[in-house]
Amino acid sequence: MQSFVYNGQSARVIFGSGRLAQLPAEVDRLGLKRVLVLATPPQAEDAENLSALLGARSVGVYSRATMHTPVDVTEDAMRVVSDKNVDGLIAVGGGSTTGLAKAIALRTDLPQIVAPTTYAGSEMTPILGETKDGQKVTQSSPKILPEVVIYDVDLTLTLPVGMSGTSGMNAIAHAVEALYAKERNPVVSLMALEAIRALARSLPLIHDDPADRDARADALYGAWLSGICLGSVGMALHHKLCHTLGGSFDLPHAETHTVVLPHALAYTAPAIPEVIEKLRDVLGHQDPAAALFELAGRIGAPRSLREIGMPEHGVEVATERALANPYWNPQPLERDGIRALIARAYAGEAPA
Ligand code: NAD
Repeated sequence: MQSFVYNGQSARVIFGSGRLAQLPAEVDRLGLKRVLVLATPPQAEDAENLSALLGARSVGVYSRATMHTPVDVTEDAMRVVSDKNVDGLIAVGGGSTTGLAKAIALRTDLPQIVAPTTYAGSEMTPILGETKDGQKVTQSSPKILPEVVIYDVDLTLTLPVGMSGTSGMNAIAHAVEALYAKERNPVVSLMALEAIRALARSLPLIHDDPADRDARADALYGAWLSGICLGSVGMALHHKLCHTLGGSFDLPHAETHTVVLPHALAYTAPAIPEVIEKLRDVLGHQDPAAALFELAGRIGAPRSLREIGMPEHGVEVATERALANPYWNPQPLERDGIRALIARAYAGEAPA
C-alpha cells in the first residue's frame, strides 16, 4: 500500500478551440471592471486585440514581459497597475508573460486570467521564479496561482515549429520528474503518464504540420496535465540541473530542458525500475531515455548544450555548481556520473 498526500489545485480551466471569446464573460464572472492585459513585445498585437474584445473592462496593454521575470520590469508594471487602478490581470503568452502576472499577483493579490500560448505549464503552478541582479529566486505562494486558465488551442497555432517542439519537451520533463517525485501520488502519476502519452504522439505531428489543430489540442491537453504535475509535486535532478545550466550560461529555457531530459532520466533510471516500466509502456520503447533522445531528433530539436550556447569549460563549471548544493534525487548525486551526464549532453551524444 502506498501512503500519500494529494493537494488539489483550484484553478478554473476552460479548454477548446475559440474559447478566448469567453474572456469577457470570465472577467464579469470575477466582477472585474479594470483589467490590464499583459504580453511580451512580439505578442503585443494579440494583447491589443484582447483588450479591444474586453472593451470598457480593459484599461489597456502592458507588453514588456521578459524571460525569467526581471524584478525591474515587474516594478515598472506595478506603477501602471497603481496609476490605472487595475483590479485584475489578463496574461496572453508563454511562461514569461504568465511570470509577470504572477509577480504582480504576489505583490497585490489581484486575480489572474491566463491564456497560455506555449506548453510551459507555468499557469498551473503556485511557483514564481524572479530575477534580480542576475540571481533567480524561486518562491511559492497561493497568491501566485492563477484563478482562471483559458486553453484556446487557436492561440498555439502561431507557435513556431521549433519552439513547439522544445516547449513540448519542457512539458514532458515536468511529467517525467513527477513520476519519481518524493511527494508522488497515484493521481498525479496518472496525469503524468497521460501527459507524456499525449505529448509524445502529438509533437511529431505538429512538427510535420504545425497547423494540425487536433495535434495542437492533444499537445495543449498534455501541457495542461504536465503543468498540474509541476505545481503538485517537487522536481529533482533534471529541473535543478536545467536551473543551474540556464542560470550559469544564460541558456534558453525550453531548449535546455529538451537537451538535458534524456540524460537526467538515464542517470536516475537505475533507482526507479517501476517508473521505467511505465515509461516503456507509454513511449513504446525498451529504453525511455533513448526514446526521448530520438523524439527530440524526430522533431528537429537541439540535442546538444554546445549548439544552444554552452561553452566547453561549462562542463566543469556546471558539475561543480550542480554538486555545490546537493538536493534529493532517487539516484544520489555522484561527481563522476554527473560530470559524464553533462559532458554527454554538451556533446549531443546518446544518453547512457
Ligand atoms: P516564453 O514565454 O519566453 O516565450 C518565448 C517567445 O515565444 C516569446 O517571445 C513569446 O512572445 C513567443 N511566443 C509564445 N507563444 C507564442 C505563440 N503562440 N505564437 C508566437 N509566438 C509566441 O517561453 P516559455 O518557454 O513559455 O516560458 C519560459 C519562461 O517561463 C521561463 O522564464 C521559465 O523559467 C518560466 N516558467 C515558469 C514556470 C513556473 O511554474 N513558474 C514553469 C515553466 C516555465
